[in-house]
Amino acid sequence: MKHALALLALCLFTAPLLAQNKAMLVIHGGAGTITRQNMTPEAETKHREGLEAALRAGHAVLARGGSSLDAVEAAIRTLEDNPLFNAGKGAVFTHEGRNELDAAIMDGKTKKAGSVAGVTIIKNPITAARAVMEKSPHVMMAGRGAELFATKMGLEIVDPSYFWTEARWKSLQNALMKEEEQKKKEQPDASLERNDAKFGTVGAVALDAGGNLAAGTSTGGMTNKQFGRIGDAPIIGAGTYASNDSCAVSATGHGEFFIRWTVAYDIAALMKYRGLTVKQAAEEVVMKKLVEAKGEGGVIALDRNGNFAMTFNSEGMYRGWIGADGVPHVAIYRD
Ligand code: ASP
Repeated sequence: MKHALALLALCLFTAPLLAQNKAMLVIHGGAGTITRQNMTPEAETKHREGLEAALRAGHAVLARGGSSLDAVEAAIRTLEDNPLFNAGKGAVFTHEGRNELDAAIMDGKTKKAGSVAGVTIIKNPITAARAVMEKSPHVMMAGRGAELFATKMGLEIVDPSYFWTEARWKSLQNALMKEEEQKKKEQPDASLERNDAKFGTVGAVALDAGGNLAAGTSTGGMTNKQFGRIGDAPIIGAGTYASNDSCAVSATGHGEFFIRWTVAYDIAALMKYRGLTVKQAAEEVVMKKLVEAKGEGGVIALDRNGNFAMTFNSEGMYRGWIGADGVPHVAIYRD
């Protein structure tokens, strides 16, 4: 009897510790034509620092026993506030020269989800997405309604000019110029497809000490997108998905493909129904299905055991992970 009690006490004591050892955070800062040739050493250092800061912010939450949802939100807010990434402060411009932001978050334990689309004055759209999930009866809110809701919830509101950055403005001017050239040549308009050469959306997936998964994604979308265009990031099952029965996924890439191929949910479904590992499932969707379709981009995906994939079919993807030891790992290029 005494032994049984001691064993029980040992199990009760070690179970959370073991789970905590699996605590994991994986992030991305966008995929695309990111090569050593088109990156200066200074830009590379800044991107690495930005990714590390986000990893540390999320890890701090997990290390104190916080939830995967809190970790995802903390990591993404850090990236949203960094002008280098195409989310929040660094959002790209629409054709008309405005910034319209999308974001989503999902809780793998409850399958609750929240998202906002086409918002222009919310400083941290990921927090607005979370408010939709937790404080409204809805999953998705768009435009003015989402903005009024965020205002009512006391979230930080900014003037649309907050999102103006010179680098993104130049990208739009380049895209507009290319569009004009194409029009002159009477070629079909491909300006949305390849104008920016890279996608800069940010995302995070996390596993907490309680064994719960969460995923989040935030983006300014694609340079030169049309007014009102919404990408995959805020669409549950396309750019963002989390369920404790399979995995948590956040995507980056050409949203129109990620929506039609329901990328995030397809990865989860391949694990659930075909028993693939998280790496196999991500490979199958990103390296086979999307490559065949010519849909460029990548994903981060994480399962309940802390196994993860950072799979992309573009030349590079800003990415990183941090485990229980608190050491951040970041990578940018394919090799
Ligand atoms: N997936 C995003 C979108 O289509 C773009 C990106 O990943 O950079 O809106």
